[in-house]
Amino acid sequence: MKYAITGARILDDATPTTIEVTDGVITALGAPAAADAEVIDAGGTVALPGLVDIHTHLREPGREDAETVLTGSRAAAKGGFTAVHAMANTSPVQDTAGVVEQVYQLGQEAGYVDVHPVGAVSVGLAGEQLAELGAMASSRAQVRVFSDDGICVSDPVLMRRALEYVKSFDGVIAQHAQDPRMTKGAQMHEGIVSAELGLTGWPAAAEESIIARDVLLAEHVGSRLHVCHLSTAGAVDIIRWAKERGIQVTAEATPHHLLLTDERVRSYDPVFKVNPPLRTQDDAEAVRQGLADGTIDVVGTDHAPHPAEDKDCEWAAGAHGMLGLETALSIVIKTMVQPGLLDWAGVARVLSETPAQIGRVADQGRPIAVGEVANLCFVNPDVTWTVDRNALQSKSKNTPYHGMELPGRVEAVLFRGRPTVLNGEVIA
Ligand SMILES: [Zn+2]
Repeated sequence: MKYAITGARILDDATPTTIEVTDGVITALGAPAAADAEVIDAGGTVALPGLVDIHTHLREPGREDAETVLTGSRAAAKGGFTAVHAMANTSPVQDTAGVVEQVYQLGQEAGYVDVHPVGAVSVGLAGEQLAELGAMASSRAQVRVFSDDGICVSDPVLMRRALEYVKSFDGVIAQHAQDPRMTKGAQMHEGIVSAELGLTGWPAAAEESIIARDVLLAEHVGSRLHVCHLSTAGAVDIIRWAKERGIQVTAEATPHHLLLTDERVRSYDPVFKVNPPLRTQDDAEAVRQGLADGTIDVVGTDHAPHPAEDKDCEWAAGAHGMLGLETALSIVIKTMVQPGLLDWAGVARVLSETPAQIGRVADQGRPIAVGEVANLCFVNPDVTWTVDRNALQSKSKNTPYHGMELPGRVEAVLFRGRPTVLNGEVIA
């Protein structure tokens, strides 16, 4: 099968070109469309490598009422992704070779993106005993990212052992940095707004103290650490210090921590309840700066679907987490590209190349060049769209952006050379 995608500018190139894709591989750049090629008009778009999410919750197995691998894969495609890392806090937990292979297989059957299961660090996410990391790594799913995300690996001895263990197969521990004792019963960021609302606060130090400890552990054992959803100005400083010291640490920011702040909690709408919590304007600006200067390596969505009954309730009872896959690129355009903090090469770096490298994923996050597998995303940055929670591909509706007008529409996506999105619509 041969496609000629016409009219797109590759990253920051000023001149539109034609990308030819034959049997899943990029076979020509800038050549006129061949007579036997199916033409895809991508006029006005920017061509990016297919986006890679380092942090997705697909909820299957166990919470298929919130999301399935299929619905989450469709949401990912709609958002411009060609690969996602599916977090381990499913039911049963992804802590054995059998469960990660099941999720991997479901991803293959869905066929919209590469689904890379994340393995749990500890058995049952209980934080006591190491899970079968080696068995998951050598399984068909070839797990390289391990995380108890949702829960912090708070025991320093277990964290050290996990970091040591994954070195043998070039794995990485992705930490949800949250001191459990300092955040017991916390409802939102600890600061002026929490004091005014009378809600139990979640101090920045609860995140920063774990990150500081973990970079020292990673240095001590010479292993790779990835910090999930970094959200405070102080955390950016710690990562900057660690990188200057040569520690192998990567850090992730979510779209919502780039855009939203704890002021949203004044609405008492649980759609804004998330872990880590929305922080202050100063924190959001520090996270943007950290992403711009490379201190923060990637944007991860932390896509966290929840059914209506878990969000349609009073603030204190609401579940943590918000949708992210279908809006991530638009939020990055709004917060980073439009203010001039990132160019398109920078977008490709934080949303595709580096997440693929962290996950040691082949065929993803690659340059748009002849001979590369055709994982491609075409976004029109000049079109705006209004988020409608009822029109999302996700099975859940807990987007914090409902009704918001956002820039950047994903017009087309090719996954391994096959269109998964055309004219802005997911192909059935
Ligand atoms: Zn988390």
